[in-house]
Amino acid sequence: MRYEGKIYRPPPEAGAYILQCTVGCSYNKCTYCSMYKDVRYRVRTIEELKEDIQMAKKAYGAGVNKVFLSDGDAISLPTDTLLEILSELYGAFPELTHVSTYAGPQSTLSKTLEELTQLRKAGLTMTYLGVESGSDRVLTEVRKGVSAKEMLEAGSNIVKSGIKLVAMVMVGLGGRGERSRIHAIETAELINRMKPYLLGTLTTVPMPGTVLHRQMSKGDFKLLDPYEVLEEMKVLLEHLTLPDLYIDGRHASNLMPIKGRLTEIGPDVISAIDKHLKHRDNNLIGQAYIGQF
Ligand code: SF4
Repeated sequence: MRYEGKIYRPPPEAGAYILQCTVGCSYNKCTYCSMYKDVRYRVRTIEELKEDIQMAKKAYGAGVNKVFLSDGDAISLPTDTLLEILSELYGAFPELTHVSTYAGPQSTLSKTLEELTQLRKAGLTMTYLGVESGSDRVLTEVRKGVSAKEMLEAGSNIVKSGIKLVAMVMVGLGGRGERSRIHAIETAELINRMKPYLLGTLTTVPMPGTVLHRQMSKGDFKLLDPYEVLEEMKVLLEHLTLPDLYIDGRHASNLMPIKGRLTEIGPDVISAIDKHLKHRDNNLIGQAYIGQF
């Protein structure tokens, strides 16, 4: 297998064969992002990708059942190219049932609903959309490149196409005080309207070398303390209204790993947060709330 630069994939894609369709991210401007800084963006040719697939077939056999298309925004490839890749993958791996990719909001919006539906029919089963926030102010500040309305349209089109949508949001990205509360409420409202299959929650941890880290060092971005993180998580959960929504908050950045259906774990997580906020006992933080998935 041939890979260029550091390869990232979402945690649920552990065990997937990773096909590197692009090197880097076509956008690469989000202020909090530390990924793909060591490579120059380029799209790999279909010939290279077909060779890679044959190499993977030789290395892993035909039993591959899960593939992740990297790097940061493979949905940005022309639809015809993605269809050719999917056809090649399903031809090489008869047991394949899952092909997923990251989907940047702008790249997703550049495709029509018909194109996304075509991709679903050809076997693109899941996409990961970095929603980050439902607040226009926050999306502008972190240079996400789209408004909340455009983010909603991108996510909704994925849902309508039948591709399973994993929406990822970042607790703490709005900053402290009232900004934190507004970020949480507007994010919950956006998710309620988008109706993803799964909500992935991460906590904002500015990485050295990023614009956000520089802003934090200068005092222009205020990082939440652990109790403010829990408070914001509580506000987010209280404002989510989708009974069938699954939440996966087991990312390493989170203080309290959670996983399960909103209606199943939500009340317990909220009362546990209340307990933490009342007693301010650091030992309580870190306890996991894992329900059925
Ligand atoms: S779209 Fe994703 S990979 Fe690209 S810069 Fe933003 S967060 Fe990073």
